[in-house]
Amino acid sequence: VDQLNRNVRGLKPSATLRINEDSNRLIQQGRDIIKLGLGQSPFPVPEVVTAALRQHAHEKDYLPVKGLYTLRETVARYYQQRDGIPRKADDVLVGPGSKELIFNLQMACEGDLLIPAPSWVSYAPQAKLLGRKVFHLPTQPENQWRLQADELDAFCQQEPGRTRILILNYPSNPTGCSYDAESLKALSLVARKHGIIVVADEIYAETTFDGQHQSMSVYYPEGTVISSGLSKWCGAGGWRLGVMLLPDALRPLQEAMAVIASETFTSISAPTQYAACTAFSRSAALDAYLVATRDVLKRISSYMVRRLSKIGLEMEEPVGGFYLLTSFEKVRPKLEAKGIFSSESLCERLLDEKGVAVLPGSDFGLDDNQLYTRMAFVDFDGGEALDAINDSGLSG
Ligand code: PLP
Repeated sequence: VDQLNRNVRGLKPSATLRINEDSNRLIQQGRDIIKLGLGQSPFPVPEVVTAALRQHAHEKDYLPVKGLYTLRETVARYYQQRDGIPRKADDVLVGPGSKELIFNLQMACEGDLLIPAPSWVSYAPQAKLLGRKVFHLPTQPENQWRLQADELDAFCQQEPGRTRILILNYPSNPTGCSYDAESLKALSLVARKHGIIVVADEIYAETTFDGQHQSMSVYYPEGTVISSGLSKWCGAGGWRLGVMLLPDALRPLQEAMAVIASETFTSISAPTQYAACTAFSRSAALDAYLVATRDVLKRISSYMVRRLSKIGLEMEEPVGGFYLLTSFEKVRPKLEAKGIFSSESLCERLLDEKGVAVLPGSDFGLDDNQLYTRMAFVDFDGGEALDAINDSGLSG
């Protein structure tokens, strides 16, 4: 169609949603499919949070564009306690999922987008929709897929003075790896030197198996934007509630984002915002839920790593989230003998012939010739898993 905006030409629906539709179609045709495609939390929303949602079902009015003030206060308090740096309600924006907030930020702000490769599927297409330049900065498994500070510095030195946004997602979708204090400190020095805005996509922070998440905002408070929400740790992806925290130095950016929100989504569902107040208030019930969900994820992750390693696949051991980035390079000769030379063809054949739905590394910015797939290990009944843990008294 001639009228198509040139920025949307060539874009496909989001890879994760596509694989889910493909697997559901095959299931409807009677195939038995192991769904390791879509990264959706398998756990039920904590009971205290659904109770709060029910209690506020009658709330029907539009809420303020930046979010319900009490929620913004609660979120600020949560992060202040977590990171030990001062936070206030004014730092917080609430939106319909962190995906939309990241897009909103990309709309509001100038500059090149830097993303480590591999990275989550949506950052680059969002940038493309806005006609923004994207640079993939390669990372290596031997460094736990962490962006190296000296490499970031060398990249920025090529053209000093450019406006840049860097998105760091940890624990990472697709690798399950994260950053430690030392690597964040090193990156923060480079970010400060080049005036880079760092978007810390911490949507999986609370799933970190040992509960020891480190945040970039501690080392680079003036330039770090935290992005998170209810989708992963609270099992409420379909509720569509994301939060973003911006430092004072980025207040004009936050104001611009609020203007965009006021002209687009207005505000998000009122009952959900009230329920989110409960979710972001620390409580014994929520702590127990987090301990139990992390325990389930850690056990499944270790099981997957053990079993996949046995058949010659390689991966870095995840420290959080529910993904594995698996290399099939060691079995390449076998695959090539079957005519499989790319991560996309590997995934098509796994789905068609074995009924296993996984995503190709190429969807995450890796070269399609590298035989990587991302596996989401969440195709199980999280409710039953939690019950089993609770029955065994393991959640303490
Ligand atoms: N960031 C990462 C790394 C993700 O994996 C996802 C969801 O898959 C999101 C952001 C978006 O989450 P939501 O829009 O549900 O908050």
